[in-house]
Amino acid sequence: MVLAQLGGSISRAIQQMSNATIIDEKVLNECLNEITRALLQSDVQFKLVRDMQTNIKKIVNLDDLAAGHNKRKIIQQAIFNELCTILDPGKPSFTPKKGKASVIMFVGLQGSGKTTTCTKYAYYHQKKGWKPALVCADTFRAGAFDQLKQNATKAKIPFYGSYTESDPVRIAIEGVERFKQENCDLIIVDTSGRHKQEASLFEEMRQVAEATKPDLVIFVMDSSIGQAAFDQSQAFKQSVSVGAVIITKMDGHAKGGGALSAVATTKSPVIFIGTGEHIDEFEVFDVKPFVSRLLGMLLLFPVFDIFESGMGDWSGFMDKIHEVVPMDQQPKLLQKLSEGNFTLRIMYELYQNLLKMGPIGQVFSMLPGYSAELMPKGHESQAKLKRFTTIMDSMTNEGKQKMLFIWFYLLHKLDNSNPKLMTESRIMRIARGSGQPPREVMDMLYEYKCLAKVFWSKMKGLKIPKKSEMSA
Ligand code: GDP
Repeated sequence: MVLAQLGGSISRAIQQMSNATIIDEKVLNECLNEITRALLQSDVQFKLVRDMQTNIKKIVNLDDLAAGHNKRKIIQQAIFNELCTILDPGKPSFTPKKGKASVIMFVGLQGSGKTTTCTKYAYYHQKKGWKPALVCADTFRAGAFDQLKQNATKAKIPFYGSYTESDPVRIAIEGVERFKQENCDLIIVDTSGRHKQEASLFEEMRQVAEATKPDLVIFVMDSSIGQAAFDQSQAFKQSVSVGAVIITKMDGHAKGGGALSAVATTKSPVIFIGTGEHIDEFEVFDVKPFVSRLLGMLLLFPVFDIFESGMGDWSGFMDKIHEVVPMDQQPKLLQKLSEGNFTLRIMYELYQNLLKMGPIGQVFSMLPGYSAELMPKGHESQAKLKRFTTIMDSMTNEGKQKMLFIWFYLLHKLDNSNPKLMTESRIMRIARGSGQPPREVMDMLYEYKCLAKVFWSKMKGLKIPKKSEMSA
């Protein structure tokens, strides 16, 4: 079961449980069994799934819950928390500091996407003002140095390697030394990909680690690895001190559950995910937004509680509006917000603004609790926003209105976690029209659903305070 289906299945199980007139032991068990089945089909390790089920049952003791308790909410929250626990080792990874040289060593199986990920990681930080450098200590695979060199040159990142030197330890030491002298603050060492059985390569990896004393060892794992994830991550963990995990190829049709639950084996957090072959198809991984998204988010994740918690929380957002939106545009924007009138057209304008980093984009990026985690972020997701606007460009105005209606209906009447309910033929038509894959159309609709939900359910009728009424 691929991850998107996994999310759909879990959400459906929760929805079914919520629809029951009375929530008793039987209903809860059916819901948990359904979730268990879905997780196992996605390759999440059996022990983790079993523990999760036990923990939820411990938290949700139906006999002890007094009649006044909202059992549905308690169960939903417990499931959400337990899924987060699977993905959260509870300790953050080492965080490099800008301006201070840190050595980051990458390890992983051959073909996992390690070399590509080294460059993505360097590029991500370079854009944020770091001075990264790449060292190719992979002397095992022919062409490894050329690949890194090519990637690094494209991204204008300094690199070090050798065609003739066969000792990876020596190359690693020389490269790290050189880049320290050049005041690079993120020295990334790519090592040979290896397999669990290759004892000599594991020994070599250990020696590179011993010689370069990395501040952080990142284990790169292909999301399609399945149940083998445990053995493999264990083998790496035993040889070097893995401090963080990056999961690649999350854009594919992989099940992903195995790789994700490898977090529990390495006891190291997933810090990024790779979402494509391109250098900027790389996203920061945060557990709660990920699980929220997996589950169709709005069912469970209380990010929007902030909207219900009084005006105080709005002050930053409102200040930002007054600060960045030109005076003459403020009334119109505030009007739109208070009407909860969020159409695909507004989303289109918003994305256009975000692409230009115009004032409305900045304002939306301030939305409390929402934007930081779920909005496609300015520079990092420019390509994605462009793809979304291309899709929207290809839809007629009438199409945009219809879509609105369908989504509104789905949001309120049906299982709102599965964009597939938006008829396949419609999605295929939009995909063809925009030259984008259907999955991209579904992603776009998902984003729309998230944004629209906020505006419909929370902002409609909201009394927008005037600046003079705020912060006094
Ligand atoms: P290495 O042997 O572990 O260094 O793996 P490479 O970096 O050479 O990557 C192996 C293949 O996976 C290449 O074709 C990459 O373009 C591809 N790849 C790496 N990361 C991703 C990703 O996040 N998504 C997709 N679709 N392909 C990826």
